[in-house]
Amino acid sequence: MAVTESVSGGARGAHEGILRRQSARESAARTYARALPIVPVRARGLTIEGADGRRYLDCLSGAGTLALGHNHPVVLEAIRKVLDSGAPLSVLDLATPVKDAFITELFRTLPPGLADRARVQFCGPAGTDAVEAAFKLVRAATGRSGILAFTGAYHGMTTGALAASGGACDVRVARLPYPQDYRCPFGVGGPRGAELAARWTESVLDDPKSGVPLPAGMILEPVQGEGGVIPAPDDWMRRMRQITATRSVPLIADEVQTGVGRTGTFWAVEHSGVTPDAMVLSKAIGGSLPLAVVVYRDDLDVWEPGAHAGTFRGNQLAMAAGTATLAHVRENSLAERAAELGSRMLSQLCSLKEEFPCVGDVRGRGLMIGVEVVDPEGEGQAGGQTGGETDAAGQGDAPLVPGQVLAPADGPAGDPTAPVAGPRSLRGPHPAAPELAAAVQRECLRRGLIVELGGRHSSVVRLLPPLTISDEQAAAVLDRLADAVEAVSRGLSRRNGAVRSRT
Ligand code: PLP
Repeated sequence: MAVTESVSGGARGAHEGILRRQSARESAARTYARALPIVPVRARGLTIEGADGRRYLDCLSGAGTLALGHNHPVVLEAIRKVLDSGAPLSVLDLATPVKDAFITELFRTLPPGLADRARVQFCGPAGTDAVEAAFKLVRAATGRSGILAFTGAYHGMTTGALAASGGACDVRVARLPYPQDYRCPFGVGGPRGAELAARWTESVLDDPKSGVPLPAGMILEPVQGEGGVIPAPDDWMRRMRQITATRSVPLIADEVQTGVGRTGTFWAVEHSGVTPDAMVLSKAIGGSLPLAVVVYRDDLDVWEPGAHAGTFRGNQLAMAAGTATLAHVRENSLAERAAELGSRMLSQLCSLKEEFPCVGDVRGRGLMIGVEVVDPEGEGQAGGQTGGETDAAGQGDAPLVPGQVLAPADGPAGDPTAPVAGPRSLRGPHPAAPELAAAVQRECLRRGLIVELGGRHSSVVRLLPPLTISDEQAAAVLDRLADAVEAVSRGLSRRNGAVRSRT
């Protein structure tokens, strides 16, 4: 059911001309524009209209920026109010009534324990800038330099600007295993996989020969977004809090993508009840306009004036749009709505897994949903999901002996993500299938649905709809996605059948 709408020759010509000029003039590093050859000209809520007259349901939402969808009335009204007031639009970090209102609303939403002792630093407007600021903050506060981060993490794209400016930027990052069921690095999945991941972290911190000195901070995403929509188990989150707190290592929660109701609570750390020492926030907090901040506990506030400066820290329109968005999500319980609708969408998507062998896994939290596409003909890799009931050593749920590590066995300096060679019956998931995932994305677009791809192998089809999506719209999204998966599956069966008949 490809979307067919009558489009005038002129509109199609303009659309194609813009796309042609884009590919001729913009950089080879452009991203979304490659897989999504559309030219948005109008948008409202979940819907985007292209220059060619076609309409799309937008489940990319500016990579998770649009908590309220495109051009929500409360956001437009807030922007218009600032424009009509004659207020200055760019004011560095000077105090303004617009900023004052934003901070008040932001602090109202923070997890208890942070809300009453919070400080906020306005950074350059990108999430990656807030991450840089948070690293400087914890380095200044602890006098230490290294950072702990996790496999599959995504925190942004900046490198080198500080080095070129002669600043200290030699951040040493030690990478630790992030727990995941489907492709568990320890080959066990479930609570045991998460427990092993936590023990690995503990051992890296406590082993004087791990090669990792006590770090300035640990940064983690409560749900990995770009890493393939992988929610961290709440128990593991609490373990990370306890491990960092007992060793005086500040815990930084990167809520750039998970924040503002997306995962079913206002901030994703609330699922586990963890209070981080610092939070990096961007995307939805600017209500569709660029804005980023670090929020942290007051005792960390020992950095020097100007320690993290930048020209564009006073975007008044973004602050007004952000205040309106935060208040609307809070007052209308949109986080709860995301939890409820998200779990319904997830359970419906699970039927795709039963029906189509190329759907390897369906997972998510709230309205952050991922469908991992696999090659059903590919050999299952050792390790991965076993439901936590057994493991590569066949030990079932037997408690771990202290110090016992099932894999890897070569100490903290080894590769914790190396798959465990398990018995044949415990073969794990099929290989990721990025080409099939890209085909699903293309088929979605043909049907008027915009989805993102993510994950370690770009094989996870991602849904990030606005929190305002209606039940009817959610049903239309799922229909179009199922239809796209079916089309790709049919093509795959034909191809595999042809290969088999040739051999
Ligand atoms: N942190 C997380 C968790 C993200 O998902 C992203 C972007 O997707 C960033 C940081 C970087 O944000 P930005 O692209 O605004 O620099």
